Order: sequence, then structure tokens, then C-alpha cells
Amino acid sequence: MSANETQPSSNFIRHIVAKDLSENKHNGKVATRFPPEPNGYLHIGHAKSICLNFGIALENNGTCNLRFDDTNPEKESIEYMQSIERDVTWLGFQWHELRHASDYFEELYGYAVDLIKADKAYVDSLSAEEIREYRGTLTEPGKASPDRDRSIADNLALFTAMRKGEFADGQYVLRAKIDMASPNINMRDPALYRIRRVHHQRTGDQWCIYPMYDYTHCISDALEGITHSLCTLEFEDHRPLYDWVLDQLDIPCHPQQIEFSRLQLEYTIVSKRKLNQLVTEKHVSGWDDPRMPTIAGLRRAGYTPAAIRDFCERIGVTKKDAWIEMSVLENCIREDLNEHAPRAMAVLQPLRVVIENYPADKVEHLHLSNHPQHPEMGERTVVFDKVILIEQDDFAENPPSGYKRLIPGAEVRLRGSYVIRCNDIIKDASGAITELRCSYDPETLGKNPEGRKVKGVIHWVSEQHSLPAELRLYDRLFCRPTPDTEANFLDAINPDSLTTVTDCRVEASLANAAPESCYQFERIAYFCLDAKDSRKDHLVFNRTVTLRDTWTA
Ligand code: ATP
Ligand code: MG
Repeated sequence: MSANETQPSSNFIRHIVAKDLSENKHNGKVATRFPPEPNGYLHIGHAKSICLNFGIALENNGTCNLRFDDTNPEKESIEYMQSIERDVTWLGFQWHELRHASDYFEELYGYAVDLIKADKAYVDSLSAEEIREYRGTLTEPGKASPDRDRSIADNLALFTAMRKGEFADGQYVLRAKIDMASPNINMRDPALYRIRRVHHQRTGDQWCIYPMYDYTHCISDALEGITHSLCTLEFEDHRPLYDWVLDQLDIPCHPQQIEFSRLQLEYTIVSKRKLNQLVTEKHVSGWDDPRMPTIAGLRRAGYTPAAIRDFCERIGVTKKDAWIEMSVLENCIREDLNEHAPRAMAVLQPLRVVIENYPADKVEHLHLSNHPQHPEMGERTVVFDKVILIEQDDFAENPPSGYKRLIPGAEVRLRGSYVIRCNDIIKDASGAITELRCSYDPETLGKNPEGRKVKGVIHWVSEQHSLPAELRLYDRLFCRPTPDTEANFLDAINPDSLTTVTDCRVEASLANAAPESCYQFERIAYFCLDAKDSRKDHLVFNRTVTLRDTWTA
């Protein structure tokens, strides 16, 4: 845990687990799991679930499995599985065992046969649409399918034939026999198995019937000896079914399902389906586009695992739905980087400055500390010589009042270097400023000048001893707080979510920057070296977050 990481605060799930442990409820064990469906990349909402599940296990000397809930092969892929493993690992968690719902296909089939034998499941020939019609509504009970009273022997024969591939997709389903009049519609004989001839990324063409989520999930939990099955609130109404399935079967373990509220984060989207749409319609460059709220996107933007874990701890875990402000997430990374990111200098829009009284053949190697508050982070060397570059807007020919940077005839301090005075302005034919002629005071290196005060400090790089760089200034992907609630979330896309500045100059020490390493470019923002597009001869930095919140008024 890093210095600024929030200490765990309690929440209702931590309370339940502590109480269960004190009562020796699950033989004194805690076993959780994180069960993503591999149909997309993980997003910040998943991080909440990951931190909760792995966190509860870690805190209680328990275990947490990573389980792929891979029962929908049409939408799933190995690429997604690999990305999920990578992201969970990167977040700093280690699973006890890696499992797949598909590991249990044979057991699941066996349990379905048990249900049929106990007259708790039947094969139904109603079409999907008829099943919907028969199901009833919140105010009206459902009605029984004509197949509900099929004999056990016939059900067994039909279910066997379903598995053997003797029927067309959709011709039959296996349904639980529960209660068509239940006030909970999930209990009105839900489907357990459907016929789908799709290639599965792990089991190939071995199966043409696939188990449904609700049936699969509780049995997978039980087979893994999960004690606390933590899920989001939309599954609250499914809990009776979760319990019903396990109650019918001869399985020694009965995990306890506990629901918590989903993370809803302003100015973004946390739905894999919509994130997938952003990717396939090319509104972003991919799942790991730095504007994406995916773990891979946040990582590429420069977020650290510690900042994401800190965020998950700060937002807490409750049963109440609430929107979390984007600034909460941004503050977590800002605080982390303020504490841990080395400082460096970059000039986004260079203006050439010639130091007239500095010898043309002289070069000074200045030692600048990497972090003003952390001397243990060491120093780097920055070259000062006759021609330097400063930010165009750090000079004003006609300064507005209160302007504290460079102006004609006055002085400013160069960060970590000398005080310079502007003597002359050189312009081109159109009147644009192309160069400044300045002089430096050799007595001002690390010292205040005698008898006068210099207020402003600006950043700079040597023209010759700096490197070209491309800076990608990312901003929020959406310009309105709740795109998910709009008729078309794409309408809320921020047209200015990326500004690319191609002719920046950065200090030469950054030639050795490692991919994904973050810096505070002084007076500008936090940036990280892009792990994908950056090359030694073409450095690319992504803006992680601005120095201060620019969105909250
Ligand atoms: P999506 O709608 O984005 O596909 P999902 O819930 O279908 O989300 P899963 O892969 O099934 O995604 O999720 C794995 C786990 O992560 C589940 O336990 C789920 O409840 C949890 N999870 C998903 N989204 C969130 C969220 N926004 N906040 C908290 N937990 C989440
Ligand atoms: Mg899902």
C-alpha cells in the first residue's frame, strides 16, 4: 500500500464477513471470486468488484478465484480473457485459482439430469416468444406451458437428445419447474439450458447446449466452495433462484449471495456493450484508448494501480445507487502522481530565446532535483546553453495586469536556472514574434539577485539539448455528466477529448523514460510515456490528468 492510499474503512460487507467469521459460519473460511464474462475489457466498475472480492479475501486470510463466466460463446474471446488476466494482475491482485464456468459443463449437465429426475426441471417446446407470453407480468401470474407435465422419462430422453444435437437451435429449452405464479418473475420456470450451435473458445464444438447464467453461476460458486458470492444489485431479484437451485441439488456448499451497488461514474460509461460500440465504431482508438474507462485505457493514460485501488476504497461499498463525480477518480491519480511522479520540463509551444551575453560555446550541466519534496528521488542533469525555448504564452509584449512571466525589459527566473531579462523582440514580416533576445545574470544560479525581486518562474529547455515529442492532451470522453441516461450516449461525446501537439520539446533526460512512466511536466500537467506508439526517435506522451481540476467551476 502506498503512502497516500486510504486505509480500509468498514462497509456492510466487511461487517457481514466479520460476523460470519465470529460465528464460524462457513467453517471459519472466506472464499470469494471475481466472475467476469470475457465479452469485453474490464472497466473501472469491475475494479470496484475486484478490489472488493480480492480485498475481502486478503483481509481475512481467505482466497479469491478468478472465474470466467464463459457461457455465451458468441460474444466471448480469448483476447478478452487474456486482457482480463492482465488487468487483474496489473491492479495488484493474485487469484487463488483460475477457473472457467466451462470447466463445469459436464457437472452442470449432470445436475440438470438430477433436477429432471427429481421432477424439478422439464424440456419445453414453446418458442422464446411464447415463453415470454406465458410468463405473465408483474400484475398477472404466468400460465403453465403444455409441456410442464411431461413425464420424467420423456424429459430425460429429450434432454439427452438435446445434448446429442438432434434438434435445431431454439427448438427446445430446459426449464426449472418452480412456480408460474411467483411474484418474482425470475422464479416462473426460468430457462436452464438452451440449444445454440456455436463454437466455444475453450470447449470447441463439444457442446450444442449451453447453460444459462443463473443456473451456472450458483453451481460454479458452490463447486469452488465460495463462501460469499458478491454481486451487483441487479441480481437481488435473482437470489431466490440462486438459492432454489442449490437447495434442490446434492451439493455440500451453499454460498451466500450479497449484493452491492454498481459504480456509476460521471462523464463516462461503464457498460461493456457501449464501450464495445465506441471501439467498433471507432470513436476511440481501441479498448485501451487513454480516454476509455477501461483498466487498459486508464493504464495507458498513466493511472497507477495504487490510484485505482485508492479510488475503490474512497467510494466505498453500499446498497445505495449513486453517481460518483469524475473528480474523485482524477483526484486519486493527481494525489498519487503529485507524491510519486518525477518532475521534468517540456515546452508545448516553443518560443526561441537567445541569451546574448552567454558564450556560444559554453554548456552548463545543471543538477535539478526530480522531486522538490523528495530528495531521495535523486537528480537529473539538464543542459543550459545560449539558445533556449520557452512557452509562447510565458511571454507577453503587452501584458495584462498581474502577469508574472516574461515581459519586455523585465526579468523572470528560469526554473532551476538563471534569471533572464528580455531586451529585444524579433518579429517576422507578418508581425509574429519569432525570437527574443535576452541577457542572463550569472550571479543568479540558485540565488536571488542582489537588491531586486524577481517574481515569476517559467519552465524552459535548451534548443539543442532537448528532444522533439508528441503530446496527446486527453480530456474527458463525454462532455455531459450522465451520457448513459441520454437517448443516444454518442451525442454526449466531447469533441475536444483529444488535442495532439506535435512539435513539443522535452528535456533530454526523457530519452531514457520507460514506457508507462509518469512525469509532472512542470506547470503543465502529468504525462506518461505511451507504451504503444512512443519510439526512441519519436517520443509520445499522454496527458494523464491536469494539475488542477478544470471541470468543476
Ligand atoms: P457490463 O454491463 O459492463 O457488461 P457486467 O456486470 O455484465 O457489466 P461482468 O463481466 O458480468 O460484467 O461483471 C463481472 C463482475 O463485475 C460482476 O460481479 C459484476 O457485478 C461486477 N461489475 C460489473 N460492472 C460493475 C460496476 N459498474 N460496478 C461494480 N461492479 C461491477
Ligand atoms: Mg454480464
